[in-house]
Amino acid sequence: MEIYLVEIFDYDLVIVGSGLAGLRAAIEAARTGNGKLRIAIIAKNQLMRPHSISAEGGSAAVLYTEEGDSFDLHAYDTIKGSDYLGDQDVVEFFVRQCPVDVLELEHWGIPWARREDGRIAQRPFGGHSYPRATFASDRTGFYEVHTLYDTLLKYGNVDKYHEQFVYDFIIENNRFKGVMALDIPTGQIRIFKARAGIIATGGLGRLYGYTTYSHLVTGDGLAIALRRGMRLKDIEFIQFHPTGLVPSGILITEGVRGDGGILRNAKGERFMEKYAPTKKDLAPRDIVSRSMMTEILEGRGFKGPNGLDYLLLDFSPIGAEKIKEKLSQVREIGMHYVGIDPLESPLPVRPAAHYTMGGIDVTRTGFTGITGLWAAGEAACYSVHGANRLGANSTSECIVFGKIAGGESAKWLLKDNGMITLSEGEMSSAEDFISDAYKDKGDNDPYEIKRELWSTMDKYAYVFRNEKDLTEGLKVIRGLIERSGKISISEKGNVYNQNLISTLEMKNLVELAEVVVFSALQRKESRGSHFRTDYPKRDDENFLKHTIIQRVDGAPQITYRPVTLTKWKPEPRVY
Ligand SMILES: Cc1cc2nc3c(=O)[nH]c(=O)nc-3n(C[C@H](O)[C@H](O)[C@H](O)COP(=O)(O)OP(=O)(O)OC[C@H]3O[C@@H](n4cnc5c(N)ncnc54)[C@H](O)[C@@H]3O)c2cc1C
Repeated sequence: MEIYLVEIFDYDLVIVGSGLAGLRAAIEAARTGNGKLRIAIIAKNQLMRPHSISAEGGSAAVLYTEEGDSFDLHAYDTIKGSDYLGDQDVVEFFVRQCPVDVLELEHWGIPWARREDGRIAQRPFGGHSYPRATFASDRTGFYEVHTLYDTLLKYGNVDKYHEQFVYDFIIENNRFKGVMALDIPTGQIRIFKARAGIIATGGLGRLYGYTTYSHLVTGDGLAIALRRGMRLKDIEFIQFHPTGLVPSGILITEGVRGDGGILRNAKGERFMEKYAPTKKDLAPRDIVSRSMMTEILEGRGFKGPNGLDYLLLDFSPIGAEKIKEKLSQVREIGMHYVGIDPLESPLPVRPAAHYTMGGIDVTRTGFTGITGLWAAGEAACYSVHGANRLGANSTSECIVFGKIAGGESAKWLLKDNGMITLSEGEMSSAEDFISDAYKDKGDNDPYEIKRELWSTMDKYAYVFRNEKDLTEGLKVIRGLIERSGKISISEKGNVYNQNLISTLEMKNLVELAEVVVFSALQRKESRGSHFRTDYPKRDDENFLKHTIIQRVDGAPQITYRPVTLTKWKPEPRVY
């Protein structure tokens, strides 16, 4: 089998990822470029099937100030939710932009749910003091992706590439020059040469075995960024969503509790009253997840399969009519995956890995520090979410900051930023990388390594962490990294070689696991989603700062950066 560099494309802008962030960026770049820019949007699966389509509950936006909501309230909720690690200037900007971009989706045809008077409906969400999650049934992400994709079709100068696995960025002298991709259907190489790029490859949730993320979400963009010397920020903060369905981990949206659903332990008690007397079941996710695990660890849970002990999510207070209208997908999930109709019985749930608060270190415009390269969406860390994201703030973040990255990169490109030329070496290294990946280097099974990674992360870097577990986890992960270099790809064909793709994804995951656990070890305090049983208190004196991690000579190296505070002083988080 031979590997060829079959095509070199030449674009002004290449966008890697067609989730909410990538699609929104593409629209804005095309709109700003006004026909003058050649744009490519590429994804490793079908463009209309990004992980974003699984977003269920809603997108946060202040729409009804006359009824009591306000930008300050949304900002305060987000900052308190972030356990004061959110940069307050960025949060203030974000909340003002959300309604603009949520209403823009309305103008592009999204079927937002309606109040009886015809105005846009919003539902309550965890940690928000006002019902501001704008939703389309419990399929919000699906409708958002389709609305954005339809809108993108208006622009003729955007080429769309499905099933292209990007495995490297071409960067020379701190200047972005394009990406290298494997054309999955043929197994051959393509270089997307471009004067500018946007990384919109999503988070890294498949580090964990028990997770709400699809198998697509393997942190590829983050791993490549690290290899290319870029910095990741606050990567130790992984969100565990309280209600992953046991045993699959499929998400049961927070909208269930927003609409009145209640968590109960094995004694039938509504235990959240004890942990968050005011917000109860609608406290922020880090608090609800910790409370649930406390209930389970203290013996008030149900025995589940493979150690997945669980609690119950009771739908009965919501009422049949509302469940059928607003939570129809969740009902189908219950019936299909565990044979339970939530109209009749509660669903078994426990906290599942759900969101990557950290990401590529970027400025407010998504600029990565590499000339010509931006990042957007879950792959980027603008410091809106800090140590814990509030539900409904991510889809909004994708459309707000995706738009900005698209617009900024296009404006920059219109200023004529020179030609890109690729050297012979750069072109042949594209082939060498894949040829090398096929070489027999040992008898380790890539799928086994991935399974071991999942059980390691589930065990040592879950809701409760401590020095001993993290140290043990890091040791195991370093062993996995070593084994990941001693693999043989058993499938040798070129066409749709899933074995090769899974191996490349696995390598990305193990490398990312190392920096997640390494950063978690250094943060000797508890803040948001990162709870250390050996340092159970938040320590503002020593740790009110962002973790910045980089690989230097192959080893992770950490520095810290202050958090930007504007008008909200850190205070105890009581809900
Ligand atoms: C089940 C679930 C429900 C959620 N519900 C909500 C909600 O209701 N509200 C909310 O605010 N947030 C929600 N979130 C979070 C939110 O959906 C995500 O953070 C957001 O959709 C991420 O969008 P994105 O554009 O950054 O990335 P994604 O949607 O993950 O898209 C990434 C894109 O990058 C491409 N890609 C990745 N790697 C490569 C590669 N190597 N080569 C080429 N292409 C690549 C993928 O093919 C894909 O097109 C939910 C998350 C989950 C897991």
